[in-house]
Amino acid sequence: MSASEKKVLIVGGGLASLACAIRLHEAGARPLVFERNDCVGGRVRTDQLDGFLLDRGFQVFLDAYPEAGDLLNKKSLDLRAFRPGALIYRTSGMLRIMDVFREPRHLMESALAPVGSIADKLRVARLRWRMMRLTTEEIAGHEDMTTENYLKRAGFSPPMIDGFFRSFYGGIFLERELQTSSRMFEFTFKMFSQGSATLPSRGMGEIPRQLASRLPPGTIRLGAQVTEVQPGSITLESGEQFHGDAVVVATDASTAAGLVSAGGTVGPVWRSVTCLYFAASRSPLRESIIALNGTGSGLVNNVCVPSDLAPDYAPPGRALVSVSVLGTVDPADLESRVLAELQAWFGGTVREWRHLRTYRIERALPRQAPGTGFAGPGFRKEAGVYLCGDHLWSASIEGAIISGLRTADAILKPS
Ligand SMILES: Cc1cc2nc3c(=O)[nH]c(=O)nc-3n(C[C@H](O)[C@H](O)[C@H](O)COP(=O)(O)OP(=O)(O)OC[C@H]3O[C@@H](n4cnc5c(N)ncnc54)[C@H](O)[C@@H]3O)c2cc1C
Repeated sequence: MSASEKKVLIVGGGLASLACAIRLHEAGARPLVFERNDCVGGRVRTDQLDGFLLDRGFQVFLDAYPEAGDLLNKKSLDLRAFRPGALIYRTSGMLRIMDVFREPRHLMESALAPVGSIADKLRVARLRWRMMRLTTEEIAGHEDMTTENYLKRAGFSPPMIDGFFRSFYGGIFLERELQTSSRMFEFTFKMFSQGSATLPSRGMGEIPRQLASRLPPGTIRLGAQVTEVQPGSITLESGEQFHGDAVVVATDASTAAGLVSAGGTVGPVWRSVTCLYFAASRSPLRESIIALNGTGSGLVNNVCVPSDLAPDYAPPGRALVSVSVLGTVDPADLESRVLAELQAWFGGTVREWRHLRTYRIERALPRQAPGTGFAGPGFRKEAGVYLCGDHLWSASIEGAIISGLRTADAILKPS
């Protein structure tokens, strides 16, 4: 049997799994995906509620992602872009910092905004220039440290780090301490410089839906919780057993650690987030932009209105407001505490907002400490099975897809 005719059992139906299955299928192999939930997508899913589209936690697709961009049909995702920049809430009012290379009319406003100094803004421009010229491979070879140390070393002032980077990158890394790997910072900074943060017009869940549609019928088995994994077989909770030529565990790292008992796989420390959705009669921002908390205190980290850029996120005449709170905070009265805080941002109109749903996501991102990402082949073989997922490259859509593709390549062409 040639490598490309292999039957491959894949545990999990997230983006890493789907990317792996597509590559295997296109090479003539026979992937079979086992997903415990009623839908593929893993951490990228969208629910419908009263005509609103609710992504399970605010997240964006960076349209400059190279490998995810190649795998996906971006045109049919109908990506809608956020404006390049951010509004920053201060108790004195809203400030605006834009990427002035793309929105030069905001040059003066951004340069003079009291968020860091003019020298800080020039450092941002220099960093942008440098990152755009580096390849991902070059970034992967850089010395790794915490993002906080990296920014200090690059000469950014404490007001710039505290007033901008902690909330902007806090929303990406899901931690304001900026303890995430500087390679991850450089990579995402490069992606933001080269492209836009986008949402598919029908929600983030369209990404896995599109990938799944490229697999032949019968490839994906939903509601299939895998309880045991062996080098050539898997067992479902129901007791059913499947045999294959290779087994891939494409779950999150903690689940993989439980399924593959080789002792080498350790569960990560997780970054958590709480995402609250509200229905409003009109958008408090009225533009496709992310608003950040630049006060250094309070619950809210960032706010946006997905329906401002992608109208299908809300029924006609309504606006969908997405609010991210880092960590999983005390749920008691959370909605009213958040609304009270946001009245200072947007005024009394907030009192009319209707709470739709709150997502508390304990396992949102694996902690990416310095030295843990962008290294190695993007997958691992342990106790005879392949492991893949975002934890083996970078905690992102791009990282999950790269890991899935590289796992498939390794199965197709074992060394
Ligand atoms: C709130 C939030 C915000 C984010 N923001 C961004 C962002 O802005 N940009 C970005 O690029 N990335 C972002 N990410 C990260 C990105 O979504 C993830 O890195 C990526 O989706 C991980 O994909 P994965 O396939 O590796 O893992 P997962 O999505 O976790 O997939 C694993 C799958 O395995 C299934 N599974 C687990 N155990 C079993 C079992 N025993 N049997 C069968 N199936 C099982 C799970 O149900 C799941 O479907 C964010 C993530 C979250 C949660």
